[in-house]
Amino acid sequence: MDLTVIFDQLNHQHFDGFLDRPKLIWNTRLRTSSGRFLPGRRSQGLPATIEIAQYLLEELHAETHVRETIAHEMIHYWLWVRKRPYGHTEEFYEKMQSIGARRYNPVPRKRPYKYLYQCLACQRVFKARKKLGTLACADCCRSHARGKYDARFKLVLAHDLSESAEGRRLLEEES
Ligand SMILES: [Zn+2]
Ligand SMILES: [Zn+2]
Repeated sequence: MDLTVIFDQLNHQHFDGFLDRPKLIWNTRLRTSSGRFLPGRRSQGLPATIEIAQYLLEELHAETHVRETIAHEMIHYWLWVRKRPYGHTEEFYEKMQSIGARRYNPVPRKRPYKYLYQCLACQRVFKARKKLGTLACADCCRSHARGKYDARFKLVLAHDLSESAEGRRLLEEES
């Protein structure tokens, strides 16, 4: 699977061919997410980089996961190139919707916890060994609700690993 080919296709389909190719690499050690975007630093001669977790290649429907991950990271890159805040901002989600990218990245490979919770605003994932009560994302509450609890940032259960065969297998492997 050639990352540059996929990048070029997505660039053409969704970004009017506007983006220059960044450095595109497979990351063999990335486990906590399926990909990441690293902004470039002109002063140090570092190019912008999109890294894709190599474990995706072992997943079912690998190409779809790789494509979706590249598309996701390309939105960060596209925002950054245009000197916009390049996190999971409103603008990020708008672009994501307009190109039909999925809301979630594929699940990270290592899952030593039973439950994964997620903040739907910033997409940060929180691992838990026990079910959580009502909790909100501290970062989002801090940035958008003056540090107060705000139901918009309530953490939602994204995965219950104890209820699937795959989850049980992973839990057994971990213990
Ligand atoms: Zn992201
Ligand atoms: Zn959040």
